[in-house]
Amino acid sequence: MSRNLIVAANWKLNKGPADATAFLDAFVPKVEAFAGSAEIVIAAPFVTIPSVVAQLAGNSRIAVAAQNCSEQESGAFTGEVSAAMLKEVGAQYIITGHSERRSIYGESDATINAKNKAILAQGLKPIFCIGETLEEREGGKLESVLRTQITDGLKDIDSLENIVIAYEPVWAIGTGVTATAEQAQDTQQFVRSVIAELYNQETADAVQIQYGGSVKPGNAGELLGQQDIDGALVGGAALEADSFFGILENSAQ
Ligand code: PEP
Repeated sequence: MSRNLIVAANWKLNKGPADATAFLDAFVPKVEAFAGSAEIVIAAPFVTIPSVVAQLAGNSRIAVAAQNCSEQESGAFTGEVSAAMLKEVGAQYIITGHSERRSIYGESDATINAKNKAILAQGLKPIFCIGETLEEREGGKLESVLRTQITDGLKDIDSLENIVIAYEPVWAIGTGVTATAEQAQDTQQFVRSVIAELYNQETADAVQIQYGGSVKPGNAGELLGQQDIDGALVGGAALEADSFFGILENSAQ
């Protein structure tokens, strides 16, 4: 089964509109001259999304994502932003379940499930993150933790056609420590097997599963060359146009 690669930049709390413009000024010409088929996604801070969308108008190779949204549609939820609002300003993807949202902001699997549903209801696509801590991996809980995150995060969602899963071991995010290609492949194969149990083999074969955790140009080729790794979610190395493009170049199929 061949699945297209999807390589996404997660800018986190970095890049207001001016910095984003400078990044795209350098990045877009490189992409235009690049023959690889990977889908490229830029997950920008909320306030940066409109300028990124405007700068990418007419560019069909780079999609724009938000890094979070409310599970609510509207109402008295001060400081929140809905999936419908993000659709209105041109986002196509929204990241959910990122380990920073889970650990710093206390998001539960139930909240993440509600966000996934709110996003799908708008015709947008969640990039749904899962991943274990080092303590959980070393304590033999890797499979049970991932199974719970997947089962509860996808509860009552009938189709995965518009969902991308991102496997991000928490111990590899922003630490410079990368899972070995073998660890990532074995775990992603397990994630796919859980999807086959919950849905069916056809769905499991079709769903795109990204790897995230200290991906850089130097390790992208080996990681993204694994059978069950269909792209990357990239934090630190996606802040510079050269290194984000280097990941794309080194992962070309
Ligand atoms: C992330 O933010 O999802 C991530 C994987 O970050 P980094 O690439 O910096 O580890």
